[in-house]
Amino acid sequence: MFLKNGLLSIFFSTQCAGCKRYIKDFKYLYLCEECFEKISAPQAPFCQRCHKPLNNAVTQECHECGERKNHFSYSRSAGIYSDSLREALHMFKFEAKKGFIRVLGEYMIKNIDPVVFTGVDFIIPVPVSRATLGEREYNQTELLADYLGKKYKLSVKKSVVKIKETARQSTLERQQRLTNLRGAFKVDSKALTLVAGKVVVVVDDIYTTGSTINEMAKILKKAGALEVRAVTLARAV
Ligand SMILES: [Zn+2]
Ligand SMILES: [Zn+2]
Repeated sequence: MFLKNGLLSIFFSTQCAGCKRYIKDFKYLYLCEECFEKISAPQAPFCQRCHKPLNNAVTQECHECGERKNHFSYSRSAGIYSDSLREALHMFKFEAKKGFIRVLGEYMIKNIDPVVFTGVDFIIPVPVSRATLGEREYNQTELLADYLGKKYKLSVKKSVVKIKETARQSTLERQQRLTNLRGAFKVDSKALTLVAGKVVVVVDDIYTTGSTINEMAKILKKAGALEVRAVTLARAV
């Protein structure tokens, strides 16, 4: 193994997405072991709805969840959006490092309670617009959804389409993020009968304000979904 990795590092001298040092061991592909281990799962106490870590265990829900109308039952994330996870996700998303799914998908499986996937009919990835997909080789969220689907033997259905170009959530202020996605998604007309009466899990790469998840859940509930849960790779805090 040492020799194999040693040779690999000569042919593909890859820098760690996190610390930019050269990687000698490809256990975590584009992250060195140290940076990978810096990623941590959200710790209790956390908001029962959105998985946001809370300062005390007295309240069940965070301020944001208490303030708005939530259409999803709950969302769980694998890791806190730390420096290493941000760099890793960026690489996975924008630098076409498709193989990273092996590390990131596995991290989701390891850190998200499998109970989220019990009693579920199918998984739905958050879609990207056609234009965005044209710029990239793939929709990273679909890869995550496929990975989870394989593990939990659930089918992945692209039941929701993105019908409006929106500014990237990460470029906006909080207030703009809340309204940016309004009317951006639509349940695909072919999927309408599919969704009715079903329990579904929506998959996204990151939970920031919850606007994306909530908007997805809103239209799915409107189409008759019984329950919408969500999972994301990262949780911004
Ligand atoms: Zn590193
Ligand atoms: Zn919350």
